[in-house]
Amino acid sequence: MTDREAGTLTVKGFLELKNEVIDIDLCTRCGGCASVCPVNVIAMTKNGPSLVGDCIKCGNCLRVCPGPGTDMAGFERKLFGGKGRRTFLSLNGRCIGREHLMASDKEVFRKGYFGGRVSAVLIGALERGDIDCALLTDWSDGKGLSMGQGKLARNREEVLSLAGSKYVFSDVLTLLSDVRDDPTVKRAAVVCLPCQVQAIRKMEGDPALKGLVSKVRYIISLNCGAPMVDEAEWGRIIEDLTGVGAEDINAFRAYKTSSKKIMFEVKVGTEWKRFELPIYRYLLRVKSAVKWHRCTMCSDYAGELSDITFGAPLVRTKRGKELLDRAVAEGRLKRPGLKRRVFQDLMDTYWAMRKKRTAKATIRKRRKKGLKIPFVH
Ligand SMILES: Cc1cc2nc3c(=O)[nH]c(=O)nc-3n(C[C@H](O)[C@H](O)[C@H](O)COP(=O)(O)OP(=O)(O)OC[C@H]3O[C@@H](n4cnc5c(N)ncnc54)[C@H](O)[C@@H]3O)c2cc1C
Ligand code: SF4
Ligand code: SF4
Ligand code: SF4
Repeated sequence: MTDREAGTLTVKGFLELKNEVIDIDLCTRCGGCASVCPVNVIAMTKNGPSLVGDCIKCGNCLRVCPGPGTDMAGFERKLFGGKGRRTFLSLNGRCIGREHLMASDKEVFRKGYFGGRVSAVLIGALERGDIDCALLTDWSDGKGLSMGQGKLARNREEVLSLAGSKYVFSDVLTLLSDVRDDPTVKRAAVVCLPCQVQAIRKMEGDPALKGLVSKVRYIISLNCGAPMVDEAEWGRIIEDLTGVGAEDINAFRAYKTSSKKIMFEVKVGTEWKRFELPIYRYLLRVKSAVKWHRCTMCSDYAGELSDITFGAPLVRTKRGKELLDRAVAEGRLKRPGLKRRVFQDLMDTYWAMRKKRTAKATIRKRRKKGLKIPFVH
């Protein structure tokens, strides 16, 4: 297998990462390259990674980057060794269990976007001492509208303050080196998007880099239809929904206030303005947004290499099972009604199918034209 087939590149430094990934829009702003750089010369900006010092050409950034693609079948074999059944039409990878669940605690349920399940399992793991912290994502104040910002949560309040989906890229993987170097952390959970799961698995499989993720006990993936990326489009959407002119928006954040309402906070100058809106209007606008170039060629909807994916919790590994079983045994999660179960099933099937089809068609077209495509198996 060539380096290209393995989803890595044969070249070695930041210049090549820039040429082969960033400048041709294959970067998913996952933050992986910044976390593995031994001389800390990669900074995450709203336009992707930027070189802020001298590159020593170690090649780490290229080896973990999910942008050029990932040998999904190879990693699957290594991780699951043929164990676990395939999900319906293999749309969402391999699993050893799938259940419909929602948070039992009303506050957790209200703050989460799809039942607060992620927050519920994290609060459980923190309170039991299974983990010392979770690597989560906040809206960013200063990195632009299209970037989320990684943040550590160590208790229920911090988990709840970061609950809810931020439909933007997140640099959460940049926190991996902080966690590695923090003597108060022995075990951690990471919540991330499928391409970020791929980057973590590449780190785990790399003898020079596995130390960086040795404290990561649980890799939790969110389903990913694709984030919002275009700064100008984001501005237009916020303008449509709030009436604040796109050119006046300095920062933005949103959080749920009830099961049907969402609070938009828009920073104009130094002042935050607040608008409460029906959540469906926001979700419909986000779904119809233009997709990032790399995302149109991504077929991993459900974090197929994770320990556990939300969607309907899809348990893939023993660790994922342990995390979910404990939360259920403690009564933190319960089975929702039929309507919610059917809705989740439809979402998990329809969006996964659509994402895989789009990726296949885009890749076929680009291949015909001789354009760059990520490695696909
Ligand atoms: C960009 C994006 C696209 C998505 N697309 C789909 C989709 O098409 N179909 C679908 O079923 N679900 C999708 N999801 C997942 C869905 O929105 C919910 O996050 C998921 O179902 C978990 O809901 P919950 O209430 O259990 O989680 P919560 O309890 O609300 O917890 C969610 C956790 O995710 C973390 N998080 C938020 N934003 C990000 C981010 N950008 N990157 C990494 N972590 C983040 C938060 O810190 C929080 O801890 C998407 C999520 C994102 C971020
Ligand atoms: S590792 Fe992540 S952030 Fe860095 S170039 Fe690759 S996709 Fe972009
Ligand atoms: S030093 Fe290594 S990780 Fe850092 S930019 Fe250069 S090649 Fe990438
Ligand atoms: S669509 Fe794929 S590449 Fe884009 S953010 Fe989601 S998982 Fe990453």
